[in-house]
Amino acid sequence: MEKHPSGIKPETWLVSAGRPTEPGAPLNVPPILASNFIIGGGREYARGSGTPTWEALEAIVGGLEGGKAVAFASGLAAVAAVFDQLPVGAVVVIPEDCYQGVASLSARGAERGRWSVQRVAVDDTRGWIHASAAADLIWLESPSNPLLVVADLEAILAAARKPGAIVAVDNTFATPLNQQPLDLGATVSVQSATKFIGGHSDLLAGVVTTRDDGLWHALRKSRELTGATPGTFEAFLAVRGARTLALRLQRAQQTAMILAERLEGHPLVARVRYPGLPSHPTHGIARRVLKGFGTMISFDLLGGAEFADAVCRKVRLIRHATSLGAVESTMERRAAVPGQEHLPPSLLRLSVGIEDPDDLWADLDSAIRSGAL
Ligand SMILES: *Cc1c(COP(=O)(O)O)cnc(C)c1O
Repeated sequence: MEKHPSGIKPETWLVSAGRPTEPGAPLNVPPILASNFIIGGGREYARGSGTPTWEALEAIVGGLEGGKAVAFASGLAAVAAVFDQLPVGAVVVIPEDCYQGVASLSARGAERGRWSVQRVAVDDTRGWIHASAAADLIWLESPSNPLLVVADLEAILAAARKPGAIVAVDNTFATPLNQQPLDLGATVSVQSATKFIGGHSDLLAGVVTTRDDGLWHALRKSRELTGATPGTFEAFLAVRGARTLALRLQRAQQTAMILAERLEGHPLVARVRYPGLPSHPTHGIARRVLKGFGTMISFDLLGGAEFADAVCRKVRLIRHATSLGAVESTMERRAAVPGQEHLPPSLLRLSVGIEDPDDLWADLDSAIRSGAL
């Protein structure tokens, strides 16, 4: 599927892409519940040939990212399919701050002798450029999870690399509306569609997009041979969610800016990490690389883990839950997550939803004040 035609805005593409066009067809691709198709039409067994429901999701996300997409069972299945492309003994470089599943997956592969892993700080642009020369896989994530550091993708993706190397960007936090890594020179862009694309905390799905035709076929082969296929209802729901992505993102990131500014002035908050704040260490890069600052805010309380846990118990509108990118706001203390103990103990990661900003602020402020008691 092609990049959305010039002249059509991404907001319009989200609504109009991936729909049937034949007279009499339904407006929406239905959830097609089929493992196999009658031979002769180019489609035989779904695990290998895909289904029209998966393809609708691939058309929407692929068009936004500007390449050809492959949909997977989850974001991590999409990540694993990229790692599956590596030869034995490959050199993998991942960020110091990144999605826990990516860190665990790469560490597990290293333990088993499949590849070696180096880590570079998200904002160490020179370190990334240096590592690019010898790496087989450069894995970038920006803004990073959960510290929300913004990588200088323009500079890093322009760096010289080993022939055949894959440069992947986990574009989940930015979404293809705020950042288009393939335009900057990435080989693949990865989405956990579980988050913003789906947007309602009711599905797991992932998408990888590339402009490299050989890699696209190889990713489809990985999906076929590992069986990491998307569920039919999940793909249908992800398409449905994607239709409103632009509205949801726009609203939630406006609210995130308001909440970040208010948190920064809060007497019980020690530090706010939001790329849209001028005080953010990589704000300058964010202004240059991102079209929007996103809906994720991490903030450290003036206090320890107990204080932060109490705040999580006190919020009412904001749900004490993991994950992100949904219509409802969620918050959690990241250092409480196994494998994330190195993070500041009072750091709370807030995924801002589409609720009214004043209602969210009242909830957050009263939870912080009563949590401190
Ligand atoms: C959630 C997430 C993933 C993994 O996606 P799943 O759909 O949970 O498998 C990968 N990267 C980032 C940045 C995520 O937030």
